[in-house]
Amino acid sequence: MNQKTASTDLLECLRHMANQRITASRKKHNWQRIIRWKVDGITSFWKATPSGIQNSEPEQPQIVLRCTRRTLEKIVRRELPFFIAIWATGDLQYQGSFSDAMRLGYIFLTDNRGRRVVFLAHCFLNTNTRFPGGCAFEGATVPLIETLLNSGLGIVQMPCPEFLCLGLEKEKFGELSESELRACFRKLAEDVVRQIAAYVECGHEVAGIIGMNPSPSCGVEITKGKGTMLGKDRDASEKDGSGVFIEELKSIAAERGLADLPFFGVRRILPGEGGIKQRLEAVQRRLAK
Ligand code: SF4
Repeated sequence: MNQKTASTDLLECLRHMANQRITASRKKHNWQRIIRWKVDGITSFWKATPSGIQNSEPEQPQIVLRCTRRTLEKIVRRELPFFIAIWATGDLQYQGSFSDAMRLGYIFLTDNRGRRVVFLAHCFLNTNTRFPGGCAFEGATVPLIETLLNSGLGIVQMPCPEFLCLGLEKEKFGELSESELRACFRKLAEDVVRQIAAYVECGHEVAGIIGMNPSPSCGVEITKGKGTMLGKDRDASEKDGSGVFIEELKSIAAERGLADLPFFGVRRILPGEGGIKQRLEAVQRRLAK
């Protein structure tokens, strides 16, 4: 095999690898570039298009990549990460704009991300927004957080609606009308849904939107004191149904066409309570791939 054929074959391997990695969301962006490769003095052209990277006739390039055949071989064999070759070792010389370098990164980087996230009720990670005595942990609900982390999930902490709309010590509790409270919760929920949509659009799995049962705000299957919080009644018994923040999240998600999001609640853990192991096992089952 002569030198030219060897380099061309390696570039073909790299092009195929790149096309496999271009995610749906990246394809949607209208990124059109001519890339000129110079490998040991042999020149090849690629055209990056929304549908992938193709071989191209010579054209004025926006991106120039230069390296030796040995470097290209190491990149193809994954012995040398593409971006290390550009940014750290300098084995691959790049000419082009910074934004194009970022785009190339998304195409060529080895993706170690699990691309699975959960959206979690705020106070599971920060118990300081709970009411005093409402939780068994000083800082975070450690067993649940460990369970989530051990499942390889990224955790997105949702805002605490009661903190942000009623105050850290919930001092405005009972002062806002239902419509004022819902408007405040809805604003927060809109931002959460925007984030969920971005993850979904980029091909990540939103494995769970985890509320806290039986919160009047963040309960998913059970609530307690929702009527009291909304100024409707004084019934503090547990009831089936979602809390106000989760209701707003569900309604905005449905309006944005995000159907079938995996909402579920985990019961808060009170001091001295049993049944924690079973709760965590249920979470693991829900989140198993
Ligand atoms: S359940 Fe929701 S509203 Fe209540 S403290 Fe936790 S995050 Fe805040």
